[in-house]
Amino acid sequence: MPIHPRDLQICTGPVEGAATGAVAPPITQTSLFTYPSFDELLAGLAAEHRHHVYTRGQNPTVEVLEGKIAALERGEACKCFASGMGAISAVLLGLLETGDHVVFVNQVYGPALELATELRRFGIDHDVVLDLDVSAVEQALRPRTRLIWFESPGTMLFRTLDVPALVELAKARGILTAMDNTWATPLFQKPATLGVDIVMHALSKYLGGHSDVVGGALVAPAALLERIFYRAFLLLGASLGPFEAWLVIRGLRTLPVRMQQHEENGLAVARFLEGHPAVRRVYHPGLGDTRHGDLGGCSGLFSFELAGGDFDRIRRVIDALSVFRIGVSWGGTESLVISPNRGDNAEALDRQRIPPGLIRLSVGLEPAASLIDDLDRALAVV
Ligand SMILES: *Cc1c(COP(=O)(O)O)cnc(C)c1O
Repeated sequence: MPIHPRDLQICTGPVEGAATGAVAPPITQTSLFTYPSFDELLAGLAAEHRHHVYTRGQNPTVEVLEGKIAALERGEACKCFASGMGAISAVLLGLLETGDHVVFVNQVYGPALELATELRRFGIDHDVVLDLDVSAVEQALRPRTRLIWFESPGTMLFRTLDVPALVELAKARGILTAMDNTWATPLFQKPATLGVDIVMHALSKYLGGHSDVVGGALVAPAALLERIFYRAFLLLGASLGPFEAWLVIRGLRTLPVRMQQHEENGLAVARFLEGHPAVRRVYHPGLGDTRHGDLGGCSGLFSFELAGGDFDRIRRVIDALSVFRIGVSWGGTESLVISPNRGDNAEALDRQRIPPGLIRLSVGLEPAASLIDDLDRALAVV
């Protein structure tokens, strides 16, 4: 999928206002900022979301990154966090009250649901909807539903949603929508342009892109983000450090070329698996006619189901891989493999409608032929 010229400019272009001609922004490695007078400090403290007072609030290097991510998403404002979970926590804790209800649609990132479960201790309830038609979501709504949170494509099975229909349903009821856009990156999908209120990213994946940084981001209308800033971000303390922000800015410079290669490699590997007799099914939103109109391209994360995939066979295939390395997370240059099947969680998988034979691949930037060879050899052991 070709990259939008404006996105190329945002990712690779110089930092606005940088007077020195440097292609990389300076790292403003400071915890605090001093003021010429006490009055001026007090003015800064009165609007900490707009002033440099303390790096737990705002920092110039982090702001450069926030400007780029907001522009890539065509959103109004962005705030960065110390992790993707930091961003998710701030949405839930910043916007919900006791008695409120959240609907999660599609398979969503596991720890987000674990956090929602913890929030039951504070009287905030939730439901998970795995049937993806809008009427199923509508049925799950309650009078106190304040937020619909979703992923498209979803975690593990990569099923896509009709995002505009979901947004329409939410808007008609005055319910906020939040979408985790980590999989697609803003290059392949821009939820804010579809009317989604809050767009969330784990910077730890493709945006950082080199498996050397953990971070998160939210893009939202400025007024909504300001609410999250004062009610959660500044108080929970999951702020991104300036060096981490700088690493993500560096990652963005190669994001367009990396995403095009992840897409090409991912599709090549997925098509190979589709034709393999040991594979029952490949879960990749770019295959067949399953792709939704909202998705402009595909990243390199997808899964496949082993035919007759019990835990022992999964373990043997994973251990037989050598180019694919075994590990959590994804979105870096190296290819990774993992399975949601841990050998002792059949019931949990069943509840999430995840087939026990599932293996997830993060296809990296190695030559596709060597990745296919690796899988071909590993699948021969079962
Ligand atoms: C990794 C991830 C997160 C959480 O990000 P962290 O930086 O690990 O906290 C959230 N959503 C998705 C889809 C992810 O893959």
